[in-house]
Amino acid sequence: MTEAESIAGNLRRVRDRIAAAARAACRLPEEITLVAVSKTKPAEAVAAALAAGQTVFGENRVQEAAAKFPALRATHPLSLHIIGGLQTNKARDAVRIADVIETLDRLKLADALEAAIAREGRTPALLIEVNTGLEPQKSGVARDQADGFIEDCQSRFGTALTGLMCVPPQGEDPRPHFTWLAGCAARHNLGTLSMGMSADFEIAIACGATWVRVGSAIFGGR
Ligand SMILES: *Cc1c(COP(=O)(O)O)cnc(C)c1O
Repeated sequence: MTEAESIAGNLRRVRDRIAAAARAACRLPEEITLVAVSKTKPAEAVAAALAAGQTVFGENRVQEAAAKFPALRATHPLSLHIIGGLQTNKARDAVRIADVIETLDRLKLADALEAAIAREGRTPALLIEVNTGLEPQKSGVARDQADGFIEDCQSRFGTALTGLMCVPPQGEDPRPHFTWLAGCAARHNLGTLSMGMSADFEIAIACGATWVRVGSAIFGGR
């Protein structure tokens, strides 16, 4: 089996699992968008996924995304999400290349994105990342600061702020984290919930995820 065949088969299996998890939760499979996380993988792997009908991709690092995606975008309609912690000095590049930035998590970055959006004349959709597990090393606004930060960002960015994202602590039951994020999004009328990765996307779907970010189950280990 070629690498491309293996990626196509993995995509089929992940899509089937998403559909089954949606049905089990009395939801429609169409409510859930698969974000294929292609970080560290070559452009050929992304091209294979595109050929298999996948159009939404996630990358952690702006520089890596900028190296891979503009050429692919020239020949394929696709949507690019930045899902890794974003440095303020990369805000302008992120606004230039991304359709979605999922990791807005602090005032300095909100300032930088606001300025970049004004300069570039281009507005990606924005998600706020919440550090639901209060892990000091992780990006994301602290859980107890989330309400204030969300309100501030809603007044700055208006409808461009579409939802929330989280990465629960490894080795913990993700359910309370996903449930908390879903409740927080509902309080603020935010419709997009980006949660769930290869190991837990079915649980995330049961908890209301509308986007799941799946890397290794599609592209193999890193
Ligand atoms: C790498 C990564 C993913 C995908 O992880 P897998 O376990 O490979 O599915 C999802 N979200 C974020 C923020 C990531 O960094």
